Amino acid sequence: MCYAADRPLIESGSSGYLGQVQVIMRGKTECYECQEKPKQVTFPGCTIRNTPSEHIHCTVWSKHAFNQLFGEVDIDDDVSPDMKAEDPEHPNEEPSQEEKEAEVAGAPKPIGTRQWAESVEFDAEKVFDKLFTQDIEYLRKMTHLWKERKQPTPLLFARAMTMGKALSFDDAQNQSSEVWSIATCATVFATCIKELLKELKKSENPLSFDKDHQMVMSFVAACANIRANIFSIQLKSLFDIKAMAGNIIPAIASTNAIVAGMIVTEALKIINGCEGDAKCSFTRKTPNPRGKVFLDDLPYPPNPNCYICSASHRVFIYVNPNEMTVQGLRDKVLKQELNMIEPDVIDGNTFNVVISSDGDTDASLPKKLAELSISNGAVLNCDDFAQDLEVKLFIRAVSHLKGDAYEVSRVDEEEKKDKAEKEEARKRKVGDEVEPSEEPDAKRAKENQKEAAAAMEIM
Ligand SMILES: [Zn+2]
Repeated sequence: MCYAADRPLIESGSSGYLGQVQVIMRGKTECYECQEKPKQVTFPGCTIRNTPSEHIHCTVWSKHAFNQLFGEVDIDDDVSPDMKAEDPEHPNEEPSQEEKEAEVAGAPKPIGTRQWAESVEFDAEKVFDKLFTQDIEYLRKMTHLWKERKQPTPLLFARAMTMGKALSFDDAQNQSSEVWSIATCATVFATCIKELLKELKKSENPLSFDKDHQMVMSFVAACANIRANIFSIQLKSLFDIKAMAGNIIPAIASTNAIVAGMIVTEALKIINGCEGDAKCSFTRKTPNPRGKVFLDDLPYPPNPNCYICSASHRVFIYVNPNEMTVQGLRDKVLKQELNMIEPDVIDGNTFNVVISSDGDTDASLPKKLAELSISNGAVLNCDDFAQDLEVKLFIRAVSHLKGDAYEVSRVDEEEKKDKAEKEEARKRKVGDEVEPSEEPDAKRAKENQKEAAAAMEIM
């Protein structure tokens, strides 16, 4: 909006000890889209279900387990071992499907967690043994996973209750910054199963994860620590697990105060017409070599590859035209990725209207791009009148992407490759010219060798 209206914007934010304030001025500084935003971290399903190696994997698994037992059942959140999953860390040693099946032959197939829990009327001990003994024993049978990893150790409820002092649910809450013993985790697990089941029966809707719901959060923490113990991962406190499960970044008052102060300072400069003095400032977590934690810098210049503020407005998008739909292009690429509001899209080669913001082309939304003759090399002119934004979308066809999946790049990888090849060729050419001048050195080396040999003979 500010870019479209040509108004300066003071961008700021804080995250724990880190804070930053930046003035964005159209054409003079980098804009909000000049820097690529970090993508949210997700974990592969097989790491969560089969081979966790960090506590966060166990925490994510526990949130899924909560959903499986008490929430909206989502097949993507299954927590039982996944026999078909590939091992992302050892893709070349992947056994065939038959070999994988042979590994678990004879073992009863893991069944859905909710179904199992209902069949035993949510008996806490039985649910515990299903999640932490039976499923783990099944996982251990998938021997290809444990060639280079430590095998998980199954844990029975009865055994867990002997591991350390068992605090009651209420006492455990008072120890939220301490790491609970496994016996305490098992007690909390059992209490939570009972209480959450009561709540589920009372409620008309499935329960949903809420980090501030004491019973829900305690269940997730207890589950995560029991699973961590099984996979020999260090346990964490309820407090730490809550921060991970809720994606909590602690706010620090002094960071926020510095950021607020700098926002006002920059705003005053702009109001007083001193735009040239605008700075971007930021706080560091640790002092720099000169002992400073609060630093400033000149505003960064616009990124020449930015699709918003560069003259070319180019975006390179990798898709599988036989798989991606027009709807996927509109909703995922244009609206989600490029933040367009009401995009109109015209094929630059055929001048066909691909997407019209007034709904005229809605009939072709389910069609694949290839059906509209949009293939490798196509250039789509995308206009968003709602925010005066124009983007040229360069289509690069790749076959490995499925469905509406896409990858986006601000620079043309092919152009980059071409450039690199030309550079390489130029170097080779220069090398050819340089070689003759190296000859005397080679000659001298040979002469030295001869001299040395002669000296040997004399000796
Ligand atoms: Zn930009």
